Amino acid sequence: MLTGEEYLASLNDGRVTFFEGEEVKNIPEHPVMGTAAQLTAATYDRFHNPEPGAVNLLMTPPRSPGDLRDLIPVLSEADIVTRVTFGSLMALLTAADRLAEAGAGHVDAILGYHDQAKRTDIRITECITDAKGDRGRPPQGQTDPDAYVRVVDRCDEGVVVRGAKLHITGASYGHDLMVMPTKRMSAEAGDYSIACAIPVNAPGVRIINSSYAPRGEDVRHFPHTSHDHMPDGFVVFDDVFVPRDRVFLDGDPQYAAVFAHSLGLWERIGGVSQMTRNAELLVGFAHLIADANGLLGVAHIKDKLAEMIIHATMLRAGLEAALHNAVVTPQGFVHPNELYTNAAKYQGAANYSLMVRHLHDIAGGSLLTAPTIGDLENPQTGGDVRKYMQGRSGVPAENRLRIFHAIRDHTADAYGGWHAATNVLSGGGLYAQRIVASNHFDIEAARAMALADAGIEHWSA
Ligand SMILES: Cc1cc2nc3c(=O)[nH]c(=O)nc-3n(C[C@H](O)[C@H](O)[C@H](O)COP(=O)(O)OP(=O)(O)OC[C@H]3O[C@@H](n4cnc5c(N)ncnc54)[C@H](O)[C@@H]3O)c2cc1C
Repeated sequence: MLTGEEYLASLNDGRVTFFEGEEVKNIPEHPVMGTAAQLTAATYDRFHNPEPGAVNLLMTPPRSPGDLRDLIPVLSEADIVTRVTFGSLMALLTAADRLAEAGAGHVDAILGYHDQAKRTDIRITECITDAKGDRGRPPQGQTDPDAYVRVVDRCDEGVVVRGAKLHITGASYGHDLMVMPTKRMSAEAGDYSIACAIPVNAPGVRIINSSYAPRGEDVRHFPHTSHDHMPDGFVVFDDVFVPRDRVFLDGDPQYAAVFAHSLGLWERIGGVSQMTRNAELLVGFAHLIADANGLLGVAHIKDKLAEMIIHATMLRAGLEAALHNAVVTPQGFVHPNELYTNAAKYQGAANYSLMVRHLHDIAGGSLLTAPTIGDLENPQTGGDVRKYMQGRSGVPAENRLRIFHAIRDHTADAYGGWHAATNVLSGGGLYAQRIVASNHFDIEAARAMALADAGIEHWSA
């Protein structure tokens, strides 16, 4: 297994990556991108086991519902690049299971790739969302045929791919890009039905990063994002050669959606586990700031807190139900329950803004305008800050100030905006969760119950 230091060194492998108009030659030393690399390096160190043959727990597929449950807290503690590595590999194995049943795709290549990824302890990012051009047209009907990633050449040794995958979390921080078709493909979309693993430093790969990370010399009033942020990548594949042993599906549109469904499932269970933690964190902030403001006993504050508590609890219940009702496949692989995963992810995303509204309403304006730690330390302003930031006596003004900073950083600044939009869009957007949840709900049982209740024996001829 790699150490954090070895991981950081591995990023200097000739990858071509850009930040705010400039090429980044050394990610670990970059003032913004470097902090994110440290985050992933820290997870490497946390999981490191020097024993020969040791593997990262998050790269080993769960074999029982108990295994899956045990993985969730480990996943929550990992950085986001390690989490998407888990999502990529579990999605690939879920897809392999489904392809094996159908006798389609390159299952041996998937299993061989998984084995090698485990042994080399690499990080892999999830590249599914295409540029998509005109959303009203299919991939093969676009004015620019590269709007969806496609195969432009094939030979015995491999394929050549062209196109772009957008919004890819941590793309510059992994070793491989796991390319999968973004959705179901029609019979004419054979060249667009490509799933494969591409090294980040492969010739023809270029990544443009965007980030909500705070800028500036003193970022202590960003208690979360000063150390925890991850750029998203706009990943271009400019005629990239992919050898056969890294091609998992090619020219088989019938099975393109298997990858999107498998990734969606694992992406969303990770999302539910993060949303659950986050909902509980927001309850903590709301309670602490109400306490510091001297308002814990006030009826409308208690009402809002109760709604936030119910939201957090329902998310945890959804997560528990998805794990408790995990499905064991005929091949002995375990995955979370689709209905509960998608329903919980939908609820968490759809109600997030309301929970933030409650938090802001409880906290008051200082969540936006509280002076910084630098102002607190400056002898010219420190006294004023202490005096006028004091709330309920007994809670030091500095503590109240720090809670305001944390609330702003999480919910009302660059990361807050990123988080609000990402909650809705990640894992394919609310529409995708509505469809999958509806498809897995036992609608026949519900109809039968309603018919019996209405006293109807025959519904239609
Ligand atoms: C911060 C962030 C991180 C992300 N990380 C990743 C990642 O790591 N990997 C990855 O692959 N993706 C990632 N995503 C992408 C995410 O999954 C997509 O944003 C999401 O699937 C929506 O796709 P889109 O952004 O292209 O929007 P669009 O597809 O343009 O969707 C916008 C709206 O139009 C609707 N729509 C689009 N096409 C149609 C149609 N044909 N018919 C009817 N309605 C339609 C959608 O339902 C939606 O309501 C990330 C997104 C964000 C914001």
